[in-house]
Amino acid sequence: MEYHPGGEEELMKAAGIDGTQLFDQVHRWVNYESMLKECLIGRMAVKHASLLKGLTATEKPEKTHINGLLPVSAKQEAGKAFKPRYDWFQTDSTVTLVIYTKQMSMFSEMVTADYQDNILRGEITIEDYSYLLLIELSHAIEDFEVCTSSITGKIEVILQKEDHKAWKNLGKSLEGNNTFIKKSQRGVYYRKCRLTSKTAINHNTRLFTIELPQCCYLQVPVGHHVYLKLPIEGMEIVKPYTPVSQDLVMDHIQSTDSKNKYIYLMIKIYTNGSFTPHFDKLEIDR
Ligand SMILES: Cc1cc2nc3c(=O)[nH]c(=O)nc-3n(C[C@H](O)[C@H](O)[C@H](O)COP(=O)(O)OP(=O)(O)OC[C@H]3O[C@@H](n4cnc5c(N)ncnc54)[C@H](O)[C@@H]3O)c2cc1C
Repeated sequence: MEYHPGGEEELMKAAGIDGTQLFDQVHRWVNYESMLKECLIGRMAVKHASLLKGLTATEKPEKTHINGLLPVSAKQEAGKAFKPRYDWFQTDSTVTLVIYTKQMSMFSEMVTADYQDNILRGEITIEDYSYLLLIELSHAIEDFEVCTSSITGKIEVILQKEDHKAWKNLGKSLEGNNTFIKKSQRGVYYRKCRLTSKTAINHNTRLFTIELPQCCYLQVPVGHHVYLKLPIEGMEIVKPYTPVSQDLVMDHIQSTDSKNKYIYLMIKIYTNGSFTPHFDKLEIDR
């Protein structure tokens, strides 16, 4: 406190409360608004035609741009305007679900898909939004594959029919199917996985290999995380972990077939931690 130019009295005005306003009153020249103003070299004159298309006149986004970005409200409207839609067609051996996202930068990491107990669950993440497909299929399938086109934003989920018969319909739409909501409102979806290997990296850190179940398509984008859940002493404990790239663990990959079937986690074990010592004790299921 003794070195602060404003002195103790000034600092104590913000003791125990949010001091942002007070700081901004005195230090306007170092706040982010004034610093960004200095950096502004011009504004890009682009009509967001595609964005405005799906909106009514009253919903048109505000003109104010913050640092060249659209205001949050406009972004949210954009998300709503581009709600994906889906369709399907079939051949003797396959049923193809086509999802049109209109996203020009669609990557395979934005799609997760899963099939169990006759239920197909597909989720597409578009910025902060999540589009969900949740269908109880009318017939069983053997497997599926996912193809994404980054040019058209089209996603194809190709289901391999088990019976090779003509399907009269796709199946029953379950609660949440065809919804497009904020990702934060979607909730976490868990699957039972196999722990297939554990390698010591040093005295307290291990590299765990987790095998995804069959009919589960998941590619975690770099820097994103997954949640691990374990029942421990009558409670369910959940902790987030960031997968490491499989390129770092090439030795563990037997063939290109195994690509995207595994998740690799580098985890530090805390002997007195609530989760990691229990996770470390799990049996390896090769
Ligand atoms: C987005 C995200 C990604 C992550 N990715 C990874 C990853 O890739 N790898 C990884 O190893 N971890 C990662 N973590 C951390 C991980 O989620 C766990 O927090 C970590 O594994 C510790 O878990 P634990 O329950 O075993 O330990 P904890 O029970 O959380 O304990 C950890 C240590 O803190 C001490 N401690 C706990 N509570 C207190 C307290 N109240 N006061 C003082 N000390 C305390 C414990 O004694 C112990 O030494 C990530 C976390 C986040 C948020």
